[in-house]
Amino acid sequence: MTYASVIDSHAHLLSQYYENIDNVLAKANEANVKIMIVPAVNIDTCQESINLAQKHENIYAAIGHHPHEANLYNKDTETRLYELAKHPKVVAIGETGLDFHYNLSSQAQQLDAFRSQINIAKDLNKPVIVHCRDAFKQTFDLLAELNHKIGVFHCFTGNPQMLEEIYALNFHISFSGIITFPKSFEIQETAKLMHLDKMLIETDCPYLTPVPHRGKTNEPKYIWHTLNKIASLRSMNSDDLAQITVANTQTLFNLPINK
Ligand SMILES: [Zn+2]
Repeated sequence: MTYASVIDSHAHLLSQYYENIDNVLAKANEANVKIMIVPAVNIDTCQESINLAQKHENIYAAIGHHPHEANLYNKDTETRLYELAKHPKVVAIGETGLDFHYNLSSQAQQLDAFRSQINIAKDLNKPVIVHCRDAFKQTFDLLAELNHKIGVFHCFTGNPQMLEEIYALNFHISFSGIITFPKSFEIQETAKLMHLDKMLIETDCPYLTPVPHRGKTNEPKYIWHTLNKIASLRSMNSDDLAQITVANTQTLFNLPINK
């Protein structure tokens, strides 16, 4: 039984993944997941994320367009994102970023869409939620060039050698259930060594269900396995780590403190 509460900083609670979101939210509540940030995955899911945030006090929206679909990003997408981002419950732009592992859109298209979204975030002074796979150098370069120093590397898959560069960008790092996988040695090392004041946690649900629930659809209630894994790597108390990650998430996304 646990009494501390946590924030899931990245949960795709969208109808394309869940038949009954209310049920998922009820279970999150029972598990003391007190706040969830719901990133859209493309321009078509932004309004759904905002609607959910409007309906539930403890949900916030992030709006953005994933690099996998960067081939569909155009001027019109940019204009719509800009307008939607002004909604008071939109706390970030994302997820956006670069994925040079799958390359489902061309690298040039991904770079253009990412640049455009960083500029929106910069204009509106909001953090950017970055998806980065096999493209760390290009991501670091673009963030440095545009000098937008608020955001998070979500679902971090890098290594401890990247920490100095990430600190220089003033970015946060968020860990998902991947950290509970036996072969995630470099990710575990990063969580062990990094500055605690930059750490967030997330599920990235419906994907990446942590051990020991592999095979099930991920949901916010499972975030405790990720938190407990990091606490054990750092030989610290889970409740203390929960409190620290809650405070970090509230700071980064400018969330109300007295919930
Ligand atoms: Zn995601």
